[in-house]
Amino acid sequence: MPKLALQDLDVRGRRVLVRVDFNVPLNAEGGITDDSRIRAALPTLDYLLERGARVILCSHLGRPKGKPDPALSLRPVAQWLSDLILRPVSFVDDCLGEKVEKTVSILQNGDCLLLENLRFYLQEEANDPEFARRLAAYADFFVNDAFGAAHRAHASTEGVTRFVQQSAAGFLMQKELKFLGEELANPQRPFVAILGGAKVSDKIKVIESLLAKADTLLIGGAMSYTFLKSQGVAVGASLVEEDRLDITRRTFESAAARGKKICLPRDHVVARRVETDRLDKKGRKIVEFQDAQNTSSDSIEDGFCGVDIGPQTVRAYQELIRPSKTVFWNGPMGIFENKNFAGGTFEIARAVAESGARSIIGGGDSVKAIHASGLDGRITFLSTGGGASLEFLEGKTLPGVAALTDK
Ligand code: ADP
Ligand code: MG
Repeated sequence: MPKLALQDLDVRGRRVLVRVDFNVPLNAEGGITDDSRIRAALPTLDYLLERGARVILCSHLGRPKGKPDPALSLRPVAQWLSDLILRPVSFVDDCLGEKVEKTVSILQNGDCLLLENLRFYLQEEANDPEFARRLAAYADFFVNDAFGAAHRAHASTEGVTRFVQQSAAGFLMQKELKFLGEELANPQRPFVAILGGAKVSDKIKVIESLLAKADTLLIGGAMSYTFLKSQGVAVGASLVEEDRLDITRRTFESAAARGKKICLPRDHVVARRVETDRLDKKGRKIVEFQDAQNTSSDSIEDGFCGVDIGPQTVRAYQELIRPSKTVFWNGPMGIFENKNFAGGTFEIARAVAESGARSIIGGGDSVKAIHASGLDGRITFLSTGGGASLEFLEGKTLPGVAALTDK
């Protein structure tokens, strides 16, 4: 890696500010419902604490809009973390100010402190230099382990690096960059990329970038209807991005010209979409699906919309996945949140797990779907960065990575 890594720092007795991604999901009572993001930071934390560093952790949680919000306090995370690492984790109910300074000044080797939610200050997302300088003043070194926030130039991901001696990538950050970067740039072949999810517009650059690396691209999810329609196939009432038909058609044709295979679904699970008068938690009308059935070809009748890939498509995709040596997957094959339409996603997950290929999955909903399938243990790497993984795959420079000290 061209950037300084945590292993390159001599951390004993030094104060190390670590940006982590503790943006954990909370339930209505404020309880943590999934601690995978906390666990993902443990290798870096254990390493620092075992070597006698004085660790100051900082993170954001939710969207508090620049002012303190007790419902988005990181305090419960401090307790949770302490239970995981079997050491006390101190907590200060601010990320700046006298209380923090005092607590930092009495930290001993191997002590760990968690600061309050960075986004209680507007200056964090505004990448305010003074805010960044004050954060940096607590530490000798900065370690960024928050891959999921690295696509944003915020004070705690980018600004802070200007005010510390050295800034290095933590172990989680290194792992993300290795799998999404090196592994996909130099894949064992055949390399099959699977793309699905909601919108073509979110993913067109990812598709382009994967087309350059992968041998075969399998398309599913709602984006397949824009692809099919661009090829003149009837898609009924399925989600289509009309303004992306041209670019989708061009992508499809340029892939063929380069000898790459883009596969589109050859059959579907379809249903009639009915808006009820009932509202969900966010005040949107709850949608129900009726008359679910399989189509016998790739076209869809008027009034029906595609909600999952069909059984013939599943079999065809499984055949292509079986001999692969590398698989990258982003985007569910159907509306997997509805158990009647999760079959395509779960069947593809099974094929990926059974193929024995190096398998890398990125994207918030995709990772959720893999957890729901129960096959997460059989995947080589699940990325923790939703938006960040996609921006990285598009080939964009991540500000939080670019700002680290060059080796
Ligand atoms: P990720 O977060 O992994 O990048 P996306 O956000 O792009 O994935 O897509 C996930 C969403 O796509 C899911 O909520 C899923 O319900 C939706 N989706 C997948 N297939 C369809 C479909 N056929 N029609 C409507 N929505 C779909
Ligand atoms: Mg998503």
